[in-house]
Amino acid sequence: MSKGVTGEGKIIVIVAPSGTGKSTLIKRLKEEYPNLLESVSYTTRGIRPGEKNGESYFFVSRDEFLAMKEKGEFLEWAQVHDNFYGTSKSFVEDKLKEGKFLLFDLDVQGTDSFKEYFSNKANVIFIAPPSVETLEQRLRGRGTEDESSLNIRLTNAKKELKRQDDFDFKVINDDLERAYKDLTSIVSKVIG
Ligand code: ADP
Ligand code: 5GP
Repeated sequence: MSKGVTGEGKIIVIVAPSGTGKSTLIKRLKEEYPNLLESVSYTTRGIRPGEKNGESYFFVSRDEFLAMKEKGEFLEWAQVHDNFYGTSKSFVEDKLKEGKFLLFDLDVQGTDSFKEYFSNKANVIFIAPPSVETLEQRLRGRGTEDESSLNIRLTNAKKELKRQDDFDFKVINDDLERAYKDLTSIVSKVIG
């Protein structure tokens, strides 16, 4: 039994080291499965070109984030790289009660908290890059990180990859089409 919530909704958590291709895969998944609702997290990181507040994240200051944390408004939160990220409790509970299929994009720490909170209600899919070298090429190719941020992401990735076999499902994102097919076959099974 999950600790927090009841209701018919289902939870899919996608976890992957930064640069693996998670956003690319999730974007496609959301187009094909419009009934999958992505939870919008709060973050203290700066907004990237093309991002809109309230769409990819709610962008808040460190003080605002810490105040929310103190009030217990996060179901889980984590410090990833140099920033804070957190999932709003009320958003998730309301949507699950409405029977929605919820999609989460989390880091490994957040996923562990989720599994503890939701138990088997959370279906966790780990997406792995074919190698750390490929991951680095993708991060460099994306061109969104400076050298220091890139190095932090690569160090974290090596740690996260040690956990790749600890979750419910694993997909390797080598060839994008094949990886997407693997992902959709898992998602179809989960949401029925
Ligand atoms: P994440 O959300 O995991 O940080 P992105 O989806 O932003 O990663 O992908 C990182 C970069 O790698 C992007 O430039 C993306 O276009 C590219 N990419 C994603 N999947 C593949 C793949 N299978 N093969 C080659 N490049 C990919
Ligand atoms: P980015 O800054 O590249 O968007 O995300 C960095 C990392 O933070 C990714 O691994 C992403 O999955 C993770 N992340 C995003 N939102 C949340 C959240 O609400 N909670 C946790 N724990 N991690 C998150």
